[in-house]
Amino acid sequence: MKKLYYVTDTSSLIRLLRSNEFTRLVSTAYVAIPEDVLGEIKDKESRFLLESFLERISIINPPTNIINFIIKRAHEIGSIAEISKVDISIIALAYYLKEKKYDVIVLTEDFAIQNLCSVLGIAFSSVRPRKIKWVFKIKKKCNVCGEVFDVLLDECPICGSKNYKLIKKRTRKIS
Ligand SMILES: [Zn+2]
Repeated sequence: MKKLYYVTDTSSLIRLLRSNEFTRLVSTAYVAIPEDVLGEIKDKESRFLLESFLERISIINPPTNIINFIIKRAHEIGSIAEISKVDISIIALAYYLKEKKYDVIVLTEDFAIQNLCSVLGIAFSSVRPRKIKWVFKIKKKCNVCGEVFDVLLDECPICGSKNYKLIKKRTRKIS
């Protein structure tokens, strides 16, 4: 039984379908999307490809409680404005599968999705990995002592202050 799921956003799914990558990925893993993604594929050629590969795509809608949890986290890290309803479903699906003990990789080139994935500990990659050189991670910066710390912490680990601002930090190179 396969243990790995690739959860894709709309543009990555189209890119997969248009290349040989899709066939390669589904030979060793599942490709999964929430139903919302289907509605975003509108052009004729992509719809045709989608219909011909549909049997091999897992369409799974994440439970409402997980969607609400993801929305809450997006609010907390200040990225809710950058993220669409469909993006939330994609991240919620990845989180749900991860909770079910599957290995999950989100395929996306969208920085807002990538940032939220890093906060939630979800792995992500790009169908065109060479295009992305850096990952931006959202951190908290203490307004009192200047310490930069993880968004999961409620207060500064150095001085204990709860007075912080959110910053984007360039953290690592993917390729
Ligand atoms: Zn501090």
